[in-house]
Amino acid sequence: MTPSTCLGDAWRQAARRIERLDARLLLEHVCGCTHAELIAHPERAMSEAQAAHFEELVSRRAAGEPLAYLVGSAWFGGLEFVVNPAVLIPRPETELLVDLAARRAQGLDKPRIVDLGTGSGIVAVLLARRCPQAGVTATDISAAALDVARANAARHGAAVRFLEGDWYAPLGDERFDLIVSNPPYVVDGDPHLALNGLPFEPPQALSDGVKGGDGLACIRRLVAAASRHLEPDGWLLMEHGYNQALAVRELLSEAGFREVASWRDGAGIERVSGGHVSLMRAEA
Ligand code: GLN
Repeated sequence: MTPSTCLGDAWRQAARRIERLDARLLLEHVCGCTHAELIAHPERAMSEAQAAHFEELVSRRAAGEPLAYLVGSAWFGGLEFVVNPAVLIPRPETELLVDLAARRAQGLDKPRIVDLGTGSGIVAVLLARRCPQAGVTATDISAAALDVARANAARHGAAVRFLEGDWYAPLGDERFDLIVSNPPYVVDGDPHLALNGLPFEPPQALSDGVKGGDGLACIRRLVAAASRHLEPDGWLLMEHGYNQALAVRELLSEAGFREVASWRDGAGIERVSGGHVSLMRAEA
C-alpha cells in the first residue's frame, strides 16, 4: 500500500481479502473516522503510518485473528467493552445469564452477587449497572483478565469489587444471594476450538483442559462448593455448552439444589442452568 492510498481504495482492496464489513471497521479504527465519513469522503488520503497499520490489521484478520482483538473492543448488552487476548470475546448467548441473574437480583433488597471467572467483566459490570442496589464481587484467577475487567468497570461506572484467585478461593467464608458464572466448558479437543478465531482466545477460558473429559470439571467445582458460599435460598446460575444442560441439572440435583432448571438462549438452546439451596443444611 502506498503512502498516497485513499480511504476508498484501501477499503476496496482490503474487501478482496477479508469481509467487507470487517475491512470497513478496521479502516474506521485505524483512521478514527465514521462510516458516514468513509462514504462521504472516499478520496481522503491516509497517512503512511495509517496505511501500514491498516495493512497489518487486514493481514492479521485474513489469518483468522478475531476482529474484536484487532480493534480492542466488543459490544455486549448494549455497551462497548475493552477486550484483549487475555479474555474471551463476549458471546451473545451470555446475555441470557445476565438477564436471568438481573431478574433474580431485582426482586431482592440489597443482594450480594458474585461472578466467578469474570474474564472481561461483562457479566459483573452489566449486573452492577442493572441492579444498582446490589453489591457485586467478581473473581478471576488471571491477573491480566482482571486488568481488563477493572478497565471495563471504570469505563461504565460500575461499582464492582474484583478479587484475584481460583473460583471461590479469594472469597474466604463470604456468602452471597446469587452466584453466577460463565466458566470454561468446551470439551478439551473439541474440533470447534480450532475454528472461528477460537485459537486466538485464552484456552483456559474455553476448556477445562481435562483430556478425554466431558468439559464439566469447572462446573463440578462451582456446584460442589456453592452451598458454602450461598445465603439460605441463594441461587447458583451457570452458563454451559449446547449439549450439557441435562448433565448440569443432574449435578445440581445430586448436590441438593432445588427448583433445578435450564433456560434457553436466543437460539433456542438450553444454555444456562441453576437452582437454589433452600432447605439445604448450611455447611460449615
Ligand atoms: N460459548 C463459547 C463457545 O462455544 C464458549 C464460552 C465458554 O467456554 N464459557 O465458543
